Amino acid sequence: MIAEVIVDITNEQVDKVFDYIARPDTVAGERVTVPFGPRYITGYVLRLKETSEYPANLLKPLGQPKDDYPVLLPEFLALNDQMRAAFHLRNVDCMRLFIPTQLRNDKAKPLYINFIRLTEKFDDRELLENTRKNATKQIELIKSLRPDTMYAQTELNKRFGSANVNKLLDLGVVERVTTLKKRAPKVSERQDKIVTLTADQQRVVDSILNNREHEHLIFGVTGSGKTEVYMHIISQVLAEGKNAILLVPEISLTPQVLSTFTARFGDSVAILHSGLSDGERFDEWQRIRTGQARIVIGARSAIFAPIENVGAIILDEEHDPSYKAESNPRYTTHTVARMRSEYNHCPVIYGSATPSLDTFYRAKRGEVMLHLLPNRANAKPMPVIDIVNMCAEMANGNTGIFSEKLMTELENTVSAGNQAMLFINRRGFSSYMICRECGYVAKCEDCDVSLVYHKEDNQLKCHYCNRRYKALTNCPKCGSSYIRMGAMGTQKVVEELHERFPNVTILRMDYDTTKNKNSLNDLLEKFGKTKPCILVGTQMIAKGHDFPSVTLVGIMNADMSLHFSDFRSAERTYQLITQVAGRAGRADKEGKVILQTYTPKHYVYRFASNYDYLGFYEKEINLREVTQFPPFSRIIRVLITAEDKDEARSTTARLYSHIQDYYIEHRDKFLFCEAMASPVSRIEKKYRYQILCRFLLDTEPEISNFIYDTVSQDKHPKSLVFVEINPSNMS
Ligand code: ADP
Ligand code: ZN
Ligand code: ZN
Repeated sequence: MIAEVIVDITNEQVDKVFDYIARPDTVAGERVTVPFGPRYITGYVLRLKETSEYPANLLKPLGQPKDDYPVLLPEFLALNDQMRAAFHLRNVDCMRLFIPTQLRNDKAKPLYINFIRLTEKFDDRELLENTRKNATKQIELIKSLRPDTMYAQTELNKRFGSANVNKLLDLGVVERVTTLKKRAPKVSERQDKIVTLTADQQRVVDSILNNREHEHLIFGVTGSGKTEVYMHIISQVLAEGKNAILLVPEISLTPQVLSTFTARFGDSVAILHSGLSDGERFDEWQRIRTGQARIVIGARSAIFAPIENVGAIILDEEHDPSYKAESNPRYTTHTVARMRSEYNHCPVIYGSATPSLDTFYRAKRGEVMLHLLPNRANAKPMPVIDIVNMCAEMANGNTGIFSEKLMTELENTVSAGNQAMLFINRRGFSSYMICRECGYVAKCEDCDVSLVYHKEDNQLKCHYCNRRYKALTNCPKCGSSYIRMGAMGTQKVVEELHERFPNVTILRMDYDTTKNKNSLNDLLEKFGKTKPCILVGTQMIAKGHDFPSVTLVGIMNADMSLHFSDFRSAERTYQLITQVAGRAGRADKEGKVILQTYTPKHYVYRFASNYDYLGFYEKEINLREVTQFPPFSRIIRVLITAEDKDEARSTTARLYSHIQDYYIEHRDKFLFCEAMASPVSRIEKKYRYQILCRFLLDTEPEISNFIYDTVSQDKHPKSLVFVEINPSNMS
């Protein structure tokens, strides 16, 4: 037999499958040692076949397997082919997604612990004869051991010296017992809260369980009890002997969320997230692979959990941008989930209070079944969202960052002993220009997306077509010279709060204050306990937290994400507002939301403050159709970077000339196709160029395939070239 093997080397040029002579016991999916040139390296057996097209004398024999079981499930061998086709990945990229680094680089090993105990034949007199009289330490050691008790060897070594412990081992007085220790991620304990499903929830559960071979979207307001729906579906799936995967955005994997699941499902839950140590990750992966864990909860990459017989795949907060892996290896989690569900004949369930336009559009077209949870599980109304016009504040002489209204509400909240969350929108940090008197924001005349201010050349640029405009000195609409860069930091807000509320605890939660492994949990725990308290934070505070005493949510600068140069900026802003607002008034106390903006009339704010997702969807999808942006078109960016400017330019020119030939032939399908310097022309010493294409969907996937193939066939050893599909960061 011949084994087709993927070798684990990163060399860009080697994406070949190599033939080896199989051992009689070789199985597909195993990790093996293979001779490769002068060395031995790791490989993965993709499949077995009868014959090779290479002459037998050129084939080398396969080495020994590296594990007791094939590391790749049969499902992943199929997934490998599908993912290669869909995302143009190399085999080795797929292997990197499927197999944890700790296993690939042989770094993590199972953790064994040695224990010492007295042997059964232990007899005092015999022992004392055998032990030299002056070996007082050894006698002391023996006397300290009680029969039928195990002692960690490292402890005894420390107390009595390893030479003495070893001597007694040699004499057979004590024996060593080795056990495998599981390094489990810590999850705080809590009592399972048993609830009876509401009629709405029950309807959704039933409908999904009755339509297993479908994709489903649960569109439920924040607090509508989607988690409870997931848990009921998982229970049913487990009862049928199947397993489940639940994906959650990384920053929502809070201790609160995890303990909800472990309280209900106990040890059968495995958790995969970036905070795990190498050992923990390795052990969780093994528990999954060996079938001990039956529910996998994790961030994006947990979609590759090696779990068999999957009965349900759930993507909570499906609109979250983190579900798209944009850098290498690139993939869309939704698509991978769909591939796995087809293999397993199980449902994919997307859940969100603010579905992505893409998914809702698919639901509208009948490709995804839509389920509604229009009310909060506790029947409380959604908090009222008050829009504050910051231009009017300016006109009234308030040039600060807090509106009068927000200040008053903060005072009320604090004096009632409650909690407030202040949200600072950091997306698109400081890049657009806004008129503080009338709210005017400069947009591209061709693309209808906000322009980005570039300080180096004092210009405004469109990131979608590279058109340049003069930076504003006066507002073209009202003539005012109060032009401002949209920028506000958490630190500044915290400083001002300290001045106004010297006796109130102010906590800050952003990237800087949560870099350490436990600092996020510590912060959340502290906030949970402190009243009154004001928590100032970025996007992180928008997710999944359930604090009953939060009665006020302030959105300091809602506009920031709205004027980010991204065709999805309205969608993202709608999602952010709804998620942040959902933090207020979750328990008995009523909640309130203050939203500060310079463009209060923008349709996003109108729809968001009325919780009118459907209205927003209709407006936005029409705009996308008219302007021919996704999902009605596709954007491909080929990004070329190199330290040498000429190298980057010539690679770009060469690739562009190929793409241009195609473009000229299919001009009617293209909305745009040009090569240019990237909007940010140099990052980390590398020059950046790009080829931007936007085209209609009816030729797909031919155009994308053509571009991918062009890039992969081109030789450019000194440039890095990435292909991005509908990228959200165009800088
Ligand atoms: P979502 O994920 O939709 O935002 P959650 O699942 O977090 O909502 O539920 C919000 C709150 O409602 C939680 O505290 C949850 O325990 C509670 N809850 C959910 N379903 C029910 C129910 N059927 N009866 C009572 N409480 C419920
Ligand atoms: Zn103006
Ligand atoms: Zn433009």
